[in-house]
Amino acid sequence: MRDYLIAGNWKMNGSRAANDALVDGIRRSVATGVEYLVCPPHPFIDQVATRLSGSDVQLGAQNVSEYHEGAYTGEVSAAMLAELGCRYVLVGHSERRALFAELDEQVAAKFAAAIEHDIKPVLCVGETLAQRQANETDAVVLAQLDAVLGIVGAAGFAGAVVAYEPVWAIGTGETATPEQAQAVHALLRSRLAELDADLAASTRILYGGSMKPANAHGLLSMPDIDGGLIGGASLDATQFSEIGAAAAALASS
Ligand code: PEP
Repeated sequence: MRDYLIAGNWKMNGSRAANDALVDGIRRSVATGVEYLVCPPHPFIDQVATRLSGSDVQLGAQNVSEYHEGAYTGEVSAAMLAELGCRYVLVGHSERRALFAELDEQVAAKFAAAIEHDIKPVLCVGETLAQRQANETDAVVLAQLDAVLGIVGAAGFAGAVVAYEPVWAIGTGETATPEQAQAVHALLRSRLAELDADLAASTRILYGGSMKPANAHGLLSMPDIDGGLIGGASLDATQFSEIGAAAAALASS
């Protein structure tokens, strides 16, 4: 009942020329039975929206303000993203938590701002290497999930996506094993099930952290892994498409 979602987080990369080439490459090779999402940097959203028009590839953003409008220099509101055609937005990416000091409360407020404008949040959760080594993984990811559930409740979570991204696997070439990832995904789903069984069954939980064509099949074949949030490999249309093809093959098997 959950379609795979293959999502690209372009981070602070791109240029007009590079974006056009990347979007065209992705459009040429999308597989059926899989939902695709690309999240370019804010200044390029409009360009990518135009380049994507007529395709089924969804458009998202990498960040959103928790504020609605006014004197918040440099911020971008959910209403603005919605007007540009964004259907998704990442919230709580570990780079924003670590480099821009975003706390759980702020992440929850961003989540709430997104859903007010019918933008589906992709809530990123994940532990650092030190936390994993201290056996704190479960507590960390559940606290990050609970911070949002506590504000929006099960009803507000409908349609949202969770991305489990172990911080130690992001951009490092290290990947969680399929079994390590599956264990955390199952835990996150069980927390949703405590609130609402239908919500747990329908919520997509993506894996993120050095997902590449070579490891995609193993990760995506796990029962609670419903797609990927992909950084580095999403900047290469061939790699991104190969990951999508791995999902499509599993979806049709
Ligand atoms: C990410 O930024 O969300 C990510 C998973 O990056 P990478 O695929 O490069 O590890």
